[in-house]
Amino acid sequence: MKDHKIIFATSNEGKMREVRMILSDLGMEILSTKEAGISADIVEDGKTFEENACIKASAIQKLAGGIVLADDSGLEVDYLGGAPGIYSARYMGEDTSYDIKNRDIIDRLADAKGKERSARFVCAIAAALPDGEVLTTRGVIEGEIGYEIAGEGGFGYDPIFYLPERGLTTAQLSAEEKNEISHRGRALRKMKELLRERLGICR
Ligand code: IMP
Repeated sequence: MKDHKIIFATSNEGKMREVRMILSDLGMEILSTKEAGISADIVEDGKTFEENACIKASAIQKLAGGIVLADDSGLEVDYLGGAPGIYSARYMGEDTSYDIKNRDIIDRLADAKGKERSARFVCAIAAALPDGEVLTTRGVIEGEIGYEIAGEGGFGYDPIFYLPERGLTTAQLSAEEKNEISHRGRALRKMKELLRERLGICR
């Protein structure tokens, strides 16, 4: 029997699949906010990925109790001074398609060659614990902005996030391959270890 529950504060089913896959061996039931019966409109006004993840996790923890995890993630493009960064979801407007957002980034890098196209996905995970403490971890994956859109997998900016050592974008990886190397996979595995230490979970 599962002896603890964790709520992961997201409504994104794709993220929940990744999270369940990675945290499955903790032996805890992992619920989305919706599955936990919580709905909340949280203003993410932090200045960093970590601040935004903490804001989300703490707000839901106050409503739901128990252990609440939240993430905040985005794409940093060096040629654009780190943009879109924490504004990745809102870049060009929340409702603009990623086909348009991705083409816009490729166009803005028209004069950037080779290493000038460097970029990274960043993910911060926060865990708000019942005693009020909040733990954070960060995961990063380095890559480049591709010269064209490629691949059908993943979501968001994956079709332009090119991994030179593989010759593929993250949209061309299987879900398992992406989890193994992604910013979110890395941050979540670090969080899993912190929770194991903190909660005395021996699985
Ligand atoms: P949030 O973390 O849900 O606030 O959204 C972060 C935004 O960053 C997403 O809407 C995507 O635009 C982008 N993003 C974060 N992680 C990924 C990823 O793994 N692939 C593609 N885009 C991502």
